[in-house]
Order: sequence, then structure tokens, then C-alpha cells
Amino acid sequence: MASRDPVADLRRIAFLLERANEATYRVKAFRSAAATVARTPPAELAERAAAGTLAKLAGVGDVTARCVTESLAGEEPVYLRRLLSTEGADLPAAAAALRAALRGDCHVHSDWSDGGSPIEEMALAAADLGHEYFVLTDHSPRLTVARGLTAERLRRQLDHVAELNEQLPDGFRILTGIEVDILEDGSLDQEDELLARLDVVVGSVHSRLRDDSARMTRRMLAAIANPHLDVLGHMTGRKVAAPGAGDAAHRTARTRPPSTFDLEKVLAACVEQDKAVEINSRPDRLDPPKRMLTVAVEAGCRFGIDTDAHAPGQLDWQGFGCERAALCGVPADRVVNTWTAGRLLEWTASHG
Ligand SMILES: [Zn+2]
Ligand SMILES: [Zn+2]
Repeated sequence: MASRDPVADLRRIAFLLERANEATYRVKAFRSAAATVARTPPAELAERAAAGTLAKLAGVGDVTARCVTESLAGEEPVYLRRLLSTEGADLPAAAAALRAALRGDCHVHSDWSDGGSPIEEMALAAADLGHEYFVLTDHSPRLTVARGLTAERLRRQLDHVAELNEQLPDGFRILTGIEVDILEDGSLDQEDELLARLDVVVGSVHSRLRDDSARMTRRMLAAIANPHLDVLGHMTGRKVAAPGAGDAAHRTARTRPPSTFDLEKVLAACVEQDKAVEINSRPDRLDPPKRMLTVAVEAGCRFGIDTDAHAPGQLDWQGFGCERAALCGVPADRVVNTWTAGRLLEWTASHG
């Protein structure tokens, strides 16, 4: 039997585990093994598979060695087959149509901040999903727990992205961006000059989420009025118990109620300034809640249906956002990432 590509099989397994929101260490085992196998000459791999010494390679363990052996023998690895057999059900029709209309993703992290994978791997996975672009939105300086990028590191990232864009497959492009912290006074946590240079700016509240409604409303309105901000990220900051990611008690311990603010005023400001409200697709966020999303549709808001992915497999979470958007009647033509990159950039440039 012709052998399969063991690197592709290991990466596919990692992708499916990430999509299922499995613990990072489990996914890492497959991504490190894929990196090692990619570096090892094919003849050595074949010898080691025959001699049963694959697991002696750094980064390869018993489980991943078995996958490689099966793959080299031309069999679909049992581990992969099991994951594929438990893949989620198809999206309902309206959500599937919305998902099919999406050309990109406006909220994606890399290992430059708190993501788990290099920008290039994220880009290749997004291209595989059929995206034409994503916006790279690593965190801003004050979010030190997430290794937020200083102005200097962000400048270096911009150079790096320009180089990557030269090498990536035709038809896919990384747009530059940031998930910038909305600070307590509503200002944005990065230099103006840099914010002006970026293609897309997502602004999110990550601190003092329990502030009273008046204070939080002032803070959000100031950020929305800032010409650099294009998309308001996960507007309530809530955390919900997502499937996967540990046991039930652990998941519940990590939940957080939505913050409180004057929803009508915030939505009206988004409409008036022509800014988009993010529909965050992460299973542990699903933000805004459906009742608020319905109000936002009625208010006439634009939306971005984004993943906030921190690993390649999480780029496939857009379906969750589409399902909620479809349930709440979000029209496709009001979703900014159904647009081409060109149209998206015209829109962000219109904010000044
Ligand atoms: Zn965030
Ligand atoms: Zn994020």
C-alpha cells in the first residue's frame, strides 16, 4: 500500500483536537511530533518505523509513533479515524449559508502573544479552510499575562507579516491588526501612529469587567468614538462553560457573568460611527449573548463573525458564531467578513 504523509496526518489530528477544545498539552504532543517528523529524512523514518524506534526521536511519544507507523504503512491512523468518526453534526441550513459566505476572520492570535502556533501555521490552516484572509490580532502591551506586544515587537511583527505574505499561497493574505485593550478611560493601549498603520483594529475590554454600568458605558463609548477602532471585541466579556477543556467542575469555575453597560447607547454609537460588533465564536465566550445580539440586529449594527482563535483548529469555530447569528436573524450583507479584503480595508480606512 502507498504510504500516507505522516506529517499531514499528525497535523490533522492536532487540528481536530483543537477544534474540540481539548487541553493544549494533548495537542502539543501532535504538533511537536509533526515538526520532528518533518525534519527527519524519509529513509530514517522508514528504518525507525521498521525497528520500532520512532519514539526515541525528540518530540515523538508512543502514541504519535504509532500514528506515524500506521501512516507510513498507508493506513489511516486509528487515532485520526476515531476523531473523524466523532466529528460534529452539520450546521442548520441558514447558519451553513452564512458560514459559506464568510471570506475571512477578523480576530486571530499567534504565538507572538498568547496563541499556541506560529503565524504561518495559522495562515496555512486558514487557507485550507477556504479563507481569503485573516486579520492577525495579537494582544496589546498592558495585557502582560497574554504577552501583549510592545510597540517595538508589533513593528517587528509587521515586517514579518510582510515577508510571510510574499511566501503564502496565492489567494490568501494576512491582514495586519491588533486586539487592543480598551483602557479604563476608554483610550486604546497602543501608539496612535501604529494603530493608524494597521489594517484592522479590534478593541476589547479585558480589565475591571465588574465596573458599574455608567463607568463601563463611558469607557466603551470613548473607545467606539476613537477613529482607530473598527470592531468591538467580545462586548460583554462573559465566559461560559464550554464543552471540552477539562471536567464540568473546572469549566464552571471558569465562567464569568457579562459586564453591565447601557446596551442601547453602545449599539447606537456603533451604528453612528459605522463600527462592527463582534460575534465571538469561541465556545467559552459566545459573546454577545443572543438576547443582546437580537437587539443589535434591530439597531442596525454591522457585525464580524470571528473565532478569536489561539490555535489552528480553533479557526474552524466560526460555525458556532454563524449558528447564533442565523438564530438571531443577522443578514449576511451586514457581516464585514463576508466582504473581500479590499472592501474590508476600504471600510476600515473610512474610520480615519
Ligand atoms: Zn480578548
Ligand atoms: Zn482575542
